[in-house]
Amino acid sequence: MKTFSFRCGLLALLLSLLVLNALAQGSRRPNVIFILADDLGYQDVGFQGSPDIRTPHLDALAREGVRATSGYVSHSFCSPTRAGLLTGRYQQRFGHINNPPWRPEDSSIGLPVDQLTIADVLRKAGYATGVIGKWHLGAHAAFHPNRRGFDEFFGFTAGGHMYFGEEFPMLLEQRRKAAKPNMESISYTMPLEHNGQPVETKGYLTDVLSEKAAAFVRRHQAHPFFLYLAYNAPHAPLQASEKYLERYAHIADARRRTYAAMVSAVDDGVGQLLATLKQTGLDDKTLIVFLSDNGGQIVSSVARNTPLRGNKGDIWEGGARVPFVLRWPGQLKPGVYDKAVSSLDLFATAAALTKAPLPKDRPLDSVNLWPYLTGKKKGEPHEYLFWHRPQLQMLGVRSGEWKLVQKEGEAPQLFNLKMDIGEQHDLAAQQPARVKAMLAAYAAWREQHVPALFQSPN
Ligand code: CA
Repeated sequence: MKTFSFRCGLLALLLSLLVLNALAQGSRRPNVIFILADDLGYQDVGFQGSPDIRTPHLDALAREGVRATSGYVSHSFCSPTRAGLLTGRYQQRFGHINNPPWRPEDSSIGLPVDQLTIADVLRKAGYATGVIGKWHLGAHAAFHPNRRGFDEFFGFTAGGHMYFGEEFPMLLEQRRKAAKPNMESISYTMPLEHNGQPVETKGYLTDVLSEKAAAFVRRHQAHPFFLYLAYNAPHAPLQASEKYLERYAHIADARRRTYAAMVSAVDDGVGQLLATLKQTGLDDKTLIVFLSDNGGQIVSSVARNTPLRGNKGDIWEGGARVPFVLRWPGQLKPGVYDKAVSSLDLFATAAALTKAPLPKDRPLDSVNLWPYLTGKKKGEPHEYLFWHRPQLQMLGVRSGEWKLVQKEGEAPQLFNLKMDIGEQHDLAAQQPARVKAMLAAYAAWREQHVPALFQSPN
């Protein structure tokens, strides 16, 4: 009898081990890819209604995924947004509120090293991690992506870059020899690097980054990976190759034509990445998020944020409301999600889906969006979202369908974004209690800020 129950117990143990093993095999943790465009206008892709820019691959991504129509970034320009995106925390919590000047010799200018990135978290959970493209979180070795959780880095540490590889050495020499050499200008012509080693590149930068992204996927197909593909397109300078320019011969304005061609190159790159995921059988094992790091530069780069008000850098919707798509075939039902979500949320969302433990020693501002996107949770992911532009002395608060904007020393304005996405009709006088509550929430948020660590260049 004793032997019989011992054998039964052993059999049960064996069976449960087999089941666990099968479950583990069937539920391989998803790969995660963040694709960031740079200064892409709210309207400048097909799925956002662009009348003149064609983005078939991004449109497919949006069609097969969830388009977050009230998707925001935590700041209206480059580096602070990236600091928030990678840490899941409002960058004001650690003083990263400006663009870091490009200073390879200065260990005080960059994403503070006590901040954890999503790459740190996923790497610790066993993921292969890579960043391709624009870093813009400090040029000193202390801030190097390889020290911030990324096994692999291919790209540049500057805030932007020239686009034609053949020209980099000549331009670099010219700029170094200028009567008054400018570090930012020089940084745009530095050779690209691979894990700290300069590399010579040929051809159009966006194509080079796309090819590297596809190669990263092929190289890591057997193992869960996190890829952060940070294009610098369509950020200035406006430069595009013939291949893309000829698609837009019908656009008379040469600057708009070039900008459209730059977006097309990103679209082709996303198409190449999607094709690679299909070829490697990873398409339904991969979460892809696509968004822009801030609103379009409508003044100097002819981007369009229609129907939003404002420009890159603004507190108005045009500053921080961006094209925003999440796609995971078979797991996320295609559709539209209109409640306000933030780039800050990608941290907790990625950690939850990959079963990576979240850091517990610091407050996060990141909400796991999955229960909301899959319909398990109703209601707002965020009671409030906040923005602050000290240089403009302006603040912004979103709560539900309401947006409050205030310039220091002036009366606050209140807009109902559902009725008035263009922020034209100030309803503050009709909603004093709501204005008061939003300003109080903002004041409480501001109390958590620390002073700026560095000032933007120029
Ligand atoms: Ca940007």
